[in-house]
Amino acid sequence: GASSPDRVKKHRIARDHVAVGRILGEGFFGEVHAGVYKSPAGERISVAIKTCKDFTAEVKEKFLSEAGLMKNLDHPHIVRLIGVIEADPVWIVMELLDHGELGSYLLREMYILTTATLTLYCLQICNALAYLEGLSMVHRDIAVRNVLVASPQCVKLGDFGLSRYVDEQEYYKASVSRLPIKWMAPESINFRRFTTASDVWMFGVCAWEIFSMAQQPFFWLDNGQVINQLESGVRLPKPQRCPTAVSGLLTRCWAYEPHTRPRFSQLVCSLSDIHRMELERDGR
Ligand code: ATP
Repeated sequence: GASSPDRVKKHRIARDHVAVGRILGEGFFGEVHAGVYKSPAGERISVAIKTCKDFTAEVKEKFLSEAGLMKNLDHPHIVRLIGVIEADPVWIVMELLDHGELGSYLLREMYILTTATLTLYCLQICNALAYLEGLSMVHRDIAVRNVLVASPQCVKLGDFGLSRYVDEQEYYKASVSRLPIKWMAPESINFRRFTTASDVWMFGVCAWEIFSMAQQPFFWLDNGQVINQLESGVRLPKPQRCPTAVSGLLTRCWAYEPHTRPRFSQLVCSLSDIHRMELERDGR
């Protein structure tokens, strides 16, 4: 299981094998630093080190729960956990993604990114989510702010702060108030109901962010207005750079009834077809 002693041991690393470098950003729990990890085999790996400024047991447990979920994941488009240091100060050590958050990357590279590359990013995120679906894991916070860029042709899902395991047919009933309303499915806003189908909705919003070069979804509305708009049938408009075929998929992701939305596995097939077509178009 997720917390079996073997798993924990496998991911426990020694602090003196980690060299801490510059600050990358501020996380919810504390600063995130770049650094280098020397593995037991002597390999030097560039890492991101998440720190936790609060040493109380409850906070540390919350902080480490993200690493607890990531321990069991192994996917080319999900940020890899290298290890944890459970003694104070608690650290989570992950692979470093040099190009940072996808949102800022899109703004920076806006003029050189092709439609094929934007479609590729969506496809890669969708692949990661299909993998999570297979593990009965609901992500709950799919947005460009939680996607990191490894290289110009590779993005990874990077933040599991809100993720949960859910049983088949079951769902996670959220209690937290820091919820990303503008990314959320109607049933999540109304009943705090989170399922793979609500992840599909959120993936649609994340794809919208990608094709609109990191604009905020519904920036023209207040959080409180969003649900009324959704219930009267209003959806995000097609971004200029978004291929018609992708826009058609997004419309299906935003079906009001959760069970009528496509599955991630179907979206992967459609998006890889569209990606291939966009590549051919660029090649012509
Ligand atoms: P929040 O809950 O606000 O999203 P968080 O605690 O999940 O915060 P992150 O957003 O994951 O923290 O990290 C804070 C910053 O550190 C991000 O802006 C990101 O740029 C950087 N960062 C985090 N992980 C990595 C990584 N693996 N590689 C490179 N940069 C990273």
